[in-house]
Amino acid sequence: MIDYKFFDQVNRAFDKAAAYTRFDSGLLSQMKSCNDILHITFPLERDDGSIEVIHGWRVEHSHHKLPTKGGIRYSLTVNEDETMALAALMTYKCAVVNVPFGGAKGGIRINKNDYSDQELERITRRFTFQLYKKNFIGPGSDVPAPDYGTGAREMGWILDTFRQISSDINAEGCVTGKPLGQGGIRGRTEATGRGVFFGIEEACSNKEDMNKIGLETGIEGKAFVVQGLGNVGYHSAKYLTEAGAIMVGIAEMDGSIYNENGIDLKKLTDYRRETGGIVGFEGAQTLEDSNTVLEAKCDILIPAALENQLNAENAQRIKAKIIGEAANGPTTSEAHEIIKKRGALIIPDNYLNAGGVTVSYFEWLKNIQHVRFGRMGKRFEEDSYKRILSVIEAVSDRKFSDKELKYLAKGGGEAELVDSGLKDTMVNSYNEINEIRKKHEVDLRTAAFISAINKVGEIYEHMGIFP
Ligand code: NAD
Repeated sequence: MIDYKFFDQVNRAFDKAAAYTRFDSGLLSQMKSCNDILHITFPLERDDGSIEVIHGWRVEHSHHKLPTKGGIRYSLTVNEDETMALAALMTYKCAVVNVPFGGAKGGIRINKNDYSDQELERITRRFTFQLYKKNFIGPGSDVPAPDYGTGAREMGWILDTFRQISSDINAEGCVTGKPLGQGGIRGRTEATGRGVFFGIEEACSNKEDMNKIGLETGIEGKAFVVQGLGNVGYHSAKYLTEAGAIMVGIAEMDGSIYNENGIDLKKLTDYRRETGGIVGFEGAQTLEDSNTVLEAKCDILIPAALENQLNAENAQRIKAKIIGEAANGPTTSEAHEIIKKRGALIIPDNYLNAGGVTVSYFEWLKNIQHVRFGRMGKRFEEDSYKRILSVIEAVSDRKFSDKELKYLAKGGGEAELVDSGLKDTMVNSYNEINEIRKKHEVDLRTAAFISAINKVGEIYEHMGIFP
């Protein structure tokens, strides 16, 4: 019997928001349920010749839009409940940021550090083969991406395996987050953290909202703590620091560190590369354990590791005024209520970490169009700007230097267009859910769910799902 804890949490948040929508209970139940659930086991031959059984899952939560989309996670926490919950979150997240995909998620129950690179490659390729056999992967059906414990390398293996067994002309679009040379896109690696930054920046620019929680507008000078210095946590920290925020604390697997005057991210990253951990870093004080720093004094707390990190046990002691949910499901529903009552602003995962899937969408578009963004227009734009600048020079005394010309007449290449599309998505979506929040006097998580339910529900209504 499966204990549906995380999936229940997601559904509880859904139910709360559904009360503000016009859909009947039958349609809402259909929207909540997972359309397809695949649990597979396969043998891995380990490097020493022994055989081990590997468990993997792929869940396609909603087919209201195709393909379905969602990361693949390698972690010992992976099970059916977690994969269903994360797949459901993907459906709502895509709807919130207007990315036209259904939600899906996959995972393999392993600790990647227990396996050699060759073993991880065998696991990834075999998993892909099984997904293909069961029709759970393809550019028009279901498209995985990186998540906890996976990255571009694994996505490259997935593509290569898919290519060997499929002659689909759009094969490159079967997975996103790939290395650039295999059809990846500039900006995907950092996309989730970059999106977290844009989301927090937008929230912090709202004077009325900042007044309510006793903070000044803007990012500069705000103290933040990050839990999990992996892909999402590192990039969130990088962009926040570059914008003038001060990283005062970090939690990792081996412990946590704190320095109210700020911690140098570059030096810490070098230290971690050398020692394998963050504990003992001389630019900060080492705290008791991994969780202590979550309770430290700061303006912004960014959980960027795994689910259920802010829970009924520690929520009372969390002091941050803004919780930026970079991870999926980091705050339990009990903790959410406790933190909200204290007056803090919780920027929910189903909006805040959507930067990854947004840029995955751009990557998929690039793959099925077979052309890089900016390839057709960049030079044309640059020549047009130069012509305008030369007219300005002709009618005034102003002469532009080569450096100025280069800056002012820059056309949009792939990196610039991806960044601009991502920012536009995060800014617009924030304001959309913030409006809903004010209209219904709810929290941002409920507002994001209301937004998602309305968009998905409308499609279900017109799909004739009860033929
Ligand atoms: P990652 O594997 O790159 O990094 C996770 C980091 O968290 C690792 O450094 C790990 O050591 C650390 N960690 C694990 N447990 C911890 C604990 N208890 N305390 C402190 N640190 C801990 O994973 P990621 O891709 O950065 O994903 C992190 C979260 O963001 C997950 O919830 C994932 O679902 C979510 N997410 C990721 C993406 C993406 O594009 N990668 C997109 C959306 C959401």
